Amino acid sequence: MPRSHSRQATPKRCDVTKSVLPGTSPEKGSNARFSWGMEAQHTNNIRIPQLRVLLNTACGKRCRYCRPSGEASHQVQRDQQATPDELLEWVRVLVCAGVRDVRLTGGEPALHPLGELVRLVRETKAMGVPRLTLVTRNGRIASALAALKCAGLDCITFSLDTLDPVRWCRICGISECDVGEHATLLDAVLLAHEAGLPVSLNCVLLADTSAAEFFGLLEFAAKVGASVKVEELIRDVGMNGAAGAELHANPEHLAAMVRAQASSTWVTTPAGGLGHPMDNHRLPSGVTVTWKQFAKGACYGTDCHDCADFPCDDALMALRLLPDGRLQTCLKRDGNHLDLGAALRQGGDEADRMVRRALSVYATATRYEHADIERLRARRAWAPATQVLYAMEAHV
Ligand code: SF4
Repeated sequence: MPRSHSRQATPKRCDVTKSVLPGTSPEKGSNARFSWGMEAQHTNNIRIPQLRVLLNTACGKRCRYCRPSGEASHQVQRDQQATPDELLEWVRVLVCAGVRDVRLTGGEPALHPLGELVRLVRETKAMGVPRLTLVTRNGRIASALAALKCAGLDCITFSLDTLDPVRWCRICGISECDVGEHATLLDAVLLAHEAGLPVSLNCVLLADTSAAEFFGLLEFAAKVGASVKVEELIRDVGMNGAAGAELHANPEHLAAMVRAQASSTWVTTPAGGLGHPMDNHRLPSGVTVTWKQFAKGACYGTDCHDCADFPCDDALMALRLLPDGRLQTCLKRDGNHLDLGAALRQGGDEADRMVRRALSVYATATRYEHADIERLRARRAWAPATQVLYAMEAHV
């Protein structure tokens, strides 16, 4: 049932000096850089998640590994989509609450009006957000790259799993007639580098990804000055995880080959120390390879304990803002929405309470070791729900 949004309502202004969580006031105009997540975990140990802002829900692709509740699966009607001013107001409220790391995503940001996208970047950076990134898999972004750089974008991530154009079409679930899109995307990667933007390539490892294909991607990254993030496929994809189990590959054999060549290695995490800890390897070519591997353990929160998918592969890692103003505290599970847009239109304190509620999910998250996660997953596979609950209670 469509929800009606009144465009006439005056949104509640956010006082940028006010902080929802103690000790988390944003440093307005600060030049401080939070290169990755550990730095965004505040000194008082409150975990602040990355904010993923969905600019739209259409992406034009059906990737084989998209999350069940993935960025592309939220169908928001055109008349429910935020105006640029509403979107900025919602982001401002969350920045006031302590968010430091913002990622613009979709759907597909490149299908958003590009002038509005540049404005969004400029005004979000003006809020004092130290790390603002954008993720795309569409070469249409090329025409906006210089303007995005000038507006203050900190980094651009291209989803690029392979250099093979036909295989790329198959992974993206598009017709091989659209194979030219792959070349346009590769051109955009090069142009982003030439525009002076730090570039990252996101590669989801699949069961049929060959070592030659993977190392070819690393060579391409070296040529265009990009870093590479390798993501282990979430196994909880498809009916009862069947699709994930079929497509999943353990990245360790490739990780070991990269590790053997590395001149240095260090560990980072997503914002707030959430998600999975990640090994980083610097190669002699200058490329940094970051590994999201389940074997490193993961973070879950109290909200996970009543979840049928606990402990999922995705883990508790980021807060999502949908284009209609709803907040989603788990990227995988649908139905846990908090309607921030409606609360702000209503006025009163409800929006503050809602933001506190959303951030508290992450503030209390704890790290689980991989062996414990696998043990709980094995029990989940055969146990009736009550036994799963018992296993979780025994663990926490
Ligand atoms: S609620 Fe927690 S366990 Fe459930 S899908 Fe989300 S992150 Fe995973």
